[in-house]
Amino acid sequence: MSDFDAIIVGGGLAGLTTAYLLAKESAEVLLIERGNFAGAKNMTGGRLYSHSLEKILPGFAGEAPVERRVTREKVSLMTGDSSVTVDYFSPGLAQPGQDSYTVLRADFDQWLAGRAEAEGAQIVTGIKVDDILIRDGQVRGIVAGGDEMEADVTVLADGVNSLLAQKLGLRAELPPQQVAVGVKELIALPASVIEDRFQCRTGEGTAWLFAGQPSGGRVGGGFLYTNKESVSLGVVCTLSDLIAGNATLPQLLENFKRHPAVAPLVEGGKLIEYSGHLVPEGGLAMIPRLVTDGALIVGDAAGFCINLGYTVRGMDFAVGSGEYAAQAILQAKQAGNFSAESLDAYRSALEESFIMQDMRLYHKFPHFMETTPRIFAGYPEMASDLMAQLFVVDGQRPQPLYKKAGRSLKTVGTLNLILDALRGVRAL
Ligand SMILES: Cc1cc2nc3c(=O)[nH]c(=O)nc-3n(C[C@H](O)[C@H](O)[C@H](O)COP(=O)(O)OP(=O)(O)OC[C@H]3O[C@@H](n4cnc5c(N)ncnc54)[C@H](O)[C@@H]3O)c2cc1C
Repeated sequence: MSDFDAIIVGGGLAGLTTAYLLAKESAEVLLIERGNFAGAKNMTGGRLYSHSLEKILPGFAGEAPVERRVTREKVSLMTGDSSVTVDYFSPGLAQPGQDSYTVLRADFDQWLAGRAEAEGAQIVTGIKVDDILIRDGQVRGIVAGGDEMEADVTVLADGVNSLLAQKLGLRAELPPQQVAVGVKELIALPASVIEDRFQCRTGEGTAWLFAGQPSGGRVGGGFLYTNKESVSLGVVCTLSDLIAGNATLPQLLENFKRHPAVAPLVEGGKLIEYSGHLVPEGGLAMIPRLVTDGALIVGDAAGFCINLGYTVRGMDFAVGSGEYAAQAILQAKQAGNFSAESLDAYRSALEESFIMQDMRLYHKFPHFMETTPRIFAGYPEMASDLMAQLFVVDGQRPQPLYKKAGRSLKTVGTLNLILDALRGVRAL
């Protein structure tokens, strides 16, 4: 007889969703989180696409500590001193089902932990799970602080660098080219200042992504998300690129913050939090074996994250994978069979889900980014040059538009532009 139906390692969105759904169906659940509270060690850019959590907790945004609903999307191509921006505002962005919210994980994860506890899940914080308990070749629980605890199923929700999945042989050590690293500053500003600077109403906000200068022209990008009374400003870069380059990530973030197009946006703000975290970016190639006898793996630990260089998306996958994991565990409980074969219902459900559909859709994109450095150093300069040709009036002899555009295109080469566009479209 096990101590619990399920032990979940990690109190991020993946683990908490699994715990909530299992406890809701009266399963005996223990979740162990090494941070002092759920969300204490978790980081996001961050915008949460609502669809997967909405399915589980309808109307959650009315109750949860979300920051702002995103109604404005901006993408900028940046050189050292210029910025070319696409600004998309639409009420459609706020429509139920396609809405998204900026969140701060320390608050948001604690709220979800509260929901799981209210359903009966036991959440223990401040304890690190050191090992997996294996008996007769089957996972039987965990070892933490010298104590052994048994469960019919152990859920690995321990994030991108899942040492437990490595111990179990479900995945290998992360190679630098399959992982990016992000740093973020949380900068406090009054709500009225944010609403003026980012042209948004109370409760509404902006998601802003930057390619070019923020990552020093390497694979990666910058982000800015508006919260209620702060903005999240950060940079994400591929680890292998950082190792090869000479700028550190904190330096890149400092340069980004001082960029003439960004500095006025955060002027007068007060730094209230600085955080750094790894991001899975191997895409489909990084997904490990998802189930074994008595255990399964969810969220970032399973590599469910898409990094398109200038944007990262993993939170809706973490929630979605938690849902499918909970369903498979409940089925296994009913059948009294916790073998890999039985838990494989999780993998099968994922295959048909939005998670694997999206992972498959974008599977060529990491390779496209790595082999198309012009996205990060080339096109931003070209776009800036083109804008200068169009907008700068200096009293010199005018030139027809096609000649101006032709000059800018020469900076990367017309053939390169066409080939990159074709490869980019194919990668999507
Ligand atoms: C810079 C950056 C920007 C991002 N931006 C976005 C964004 O805008 N939108 C988006 O959707 N996604 C974004 N992501 C990705 C997103 O944050 C992750 O995909 C998501 O947090 C994964 O959730 P998770 O529950 O799987 O893992 P995590 O949130 O990492 O949770 C894992 C938990 O396990 C705990 N843990 C680990 N090991 C142990 C152990 N041995 N014992 C006990 N506890 C343990 C950790 O403390 C942690 O609480 C971003 C990520 C980064 C780093």
